[in-house]
Amino acid sequence: MTTAPEQLRGAGLRVTEPRLAIHAALLAHPHSTAAALIDYIAANASAAGISKQGVYNVLDDLAAAGMVRRIEPAGSAARFELRVGDNHHHLVCRICGRTEDVDCAVGEAPCLVPVSNSGFVLDEAEVVWWGRCADCAALTSTLSTSRSATPVEPIDSSNGTTAPTQEARV
Ligand SMILES: [Zn+2]
Ligand SMILES: [Zn+2]
Ligand SMILES: [Zn+2]
Repeated sequence: MTTAPEQLRGAGLRVTEPRLAIHAALLAHPHSTAAALIDYIAANASAAGISKQGVYNVLDDLAAAGMVRRIEPAGSAARFELRVGDNHHHLVCRICGRTEDVDCAVGEAPCLVPVSNSGFVLDEAEVVWWGRCADCAALTSTLSTSRSATPVEPIDSSNGTTAPTQEARV
């Protein structure tokens, strides 16, 4: 695996502290927004000198050089990642915004053919699967289970033999 300085040089960019700091933050936190990256970098004392505008400028430079991919799921600020050039897709949680990669089954873009292309020369099909991540889905099902489980019927232990069996829970 090539190092960050090698990748920067390979992309024709000078190796600078802000670029290295943002590269490191993206490596640790893929699909981050610029605002999240600013927080991660601010928490890192060695990189505390980068301004907010500096973060945006570096992201623009890295994206323009093809080192960073920018995705913009509906309703979210742009998110950035280092995984470029493989036409991969994304799962996005509607509740918490968690974003996960999905390999493209085809590989090269565009990987979907529209029923009609209206004369367009197509170069990409962007696929986002929307839903709830495992954590959010578990949380939602816990809430609905506890709601449907109340009220709990009192169990009459003194009358066990003749009591009708309780309704099966869904
Ligand atoms: Zn979620
Ligand atoms: Zn991704
Ligand atoms: Zn695909």
